[in-house]
Amino acid sequence: INELHKTVADMSQKLDKSRSERNRVAAEMKDLFSGGSSGGKGKKKKQGDQSQQQSSMSPQDREQRRKELVERGRVLKEDIHAQETEFSALESKLYEQAAMIPNSRHPTTPIGPESAAQLIRIQGVPRLNSGIKAFAHPGSEESRTGGEQARALLGNESSYPLLDHVTLSKTLDLIDFEAATAVTGSRWYYLKNEAALLELALIQFATQRAVRKGFTPVITPDVVRPEVVQACGFQPRDEASQTYWVSTVAPGSTSKEAAHHHQHSALCLVATAEIALAGMNMNRVLEESQLPMKLAGFGRAFRAEAGSRGAEVKGLYRVHQFSKVELFVVSKADQVESDKALEEIRQFQEDIFEELGLCYRVLDMPTEELGASAYKKYDIEAWMPGRNGWGEISSTSNCTDYQARRLNIRYRTNKIRPQVSSSGSVSEGGSNSYMTTEFAHTLNGTAMAIPRIIVALLETYQQEDGSVHLPECLWPFMAGVQVIRPKD
Ligand code: AMP
Repeated sequence: INELHKTVADMSQKLDKSRSERNRVAAEMKDLFSGGSSGGKGKKKKQGDQSQQQSSMSPQDREQRRKELVERGRVLKEDIHAQETEFSALESKLYEQAAMIPNSRHPTTPIGPESAAQLIRIQGVPRLNSGIKAFAHPGSEESRTGGEQARALLGNESSYPLLDHVTLSKTLDLIDFEAATAVTGSRWYYLKNEAALLELALIQFATQRAVRKGFTPVITPDVVRPEVVQACGFQPRDEASQTYWVSTVAPGSTSKEAAHHHQHSALCLVATAEIALAGMNMNRVLEESQLPMKLAGFGRAFRAEAGSRGAEVKGLYRVHQFSKVELFVVSKADQVESDKALEEIRQFQEDIFEELGLCYRVLDMPTEELGASAYKKYDIEAWMPGRNGWGEISSTSNCTDYQARRLNIRYRTNKIRPQVSSSGSVSEGGSNSYMTTEFAHTLNGTAMAIPRIIVALLETYQQEDGSVHLPECLWPFMAGVQVIRPKD
């Protein structure tokens, strides 16, 4: 990429030279016929000389010079056109390659694949399923929690088999996968009865708690421009991307306009409201007093989820569309401040999962799990008795200035110019301050990704008689429902 950068910089210089040569030729041509009145201030004298020469030219010489200039102009025009084409192709390639460079990592971030995640803490005691052998995912738990310690923590074996949410939702009549498969396709769903209430209750609950903590509630667009998706660190055009595209032109349309539309106007369905929240301040210069800006966005997330398989595909665990309350923070570009904001988001997430009474663990995620944008990332996984294992329910990342640079999110700040005294010592202070702008830091975190929370709640709170007792914090939002009972 360094070589490409140098090539592009050299080409840019060459192009500038050719363009000024073209301007010079055009100015001389103008002078040839106007008697020398054109040109900028600094060039007055030179052009004056030139026009004096020109005015003393014979008509034949003048015609000869005109022909030379026309020819020179023609050659330059072609040359500049060719250079511009090559330059813009190389510049796009440079931007493409630069966009692939991921953020750096926090000094404490573990290095390696998912198995290198560091366990930070476990909250609660998992409900162990007597029906399934414990440690359904051997290795990962043991390696993260350390064998015996994990066994001691995993202490609460149920006296009756715990059902998974798909089985539970049949007797409770909560989810219609069949209708959704017919209407849309596999991994789509209808939530009904108490499950529909539960989704709305969880959104209300998470949004209320966020507002209490000073977050501004926002309802985001679910459709955004591909450039915004890209600027957030996702690659919507990659084959491996999870992006759904939206177009107002019917597939199969072969007209020129359709081709143009697909290339230039097609939009993306967001995979997370993080994208719409990040884009909200795109190309804005914020005041320092507005920071940290704390947003809690509600939106729908759409994911193609190509290639996922096995237990993850069952039920609500990995679906194509889900509702989510997402936290987003724009912070000052100060590492201490944005590190602090990350811890605050994590604490908020832990508080709401604890209030819901879920058993969860917090992991410090390693480098290979950070994606392009994150500098540091925590995942929270809840214990899901139906899997007899942990399942990710949320994550939070500090993206430092990665997204802000690409989206051009800046803030105005006052800086002090260091003073160098006559003895050579450097100090700060005095009246030598100046205003400037800096790229902000951005952070995001899941407050509530509905489907997996429904999975964890149904499976955690199931009773022997097949009912599900809901945690008290949700009662005010459940239209009077406290217990979900089997339907006849
Ligand atoms: P992510 O933005 O990928 O970190 O996802 C945020 C949260 O959304 C995850 O922690 C999961 O709880 C949830 N989630 C991600 N993908 C899916 C999916 N396909 N279906 C259901 N929930 C999901």
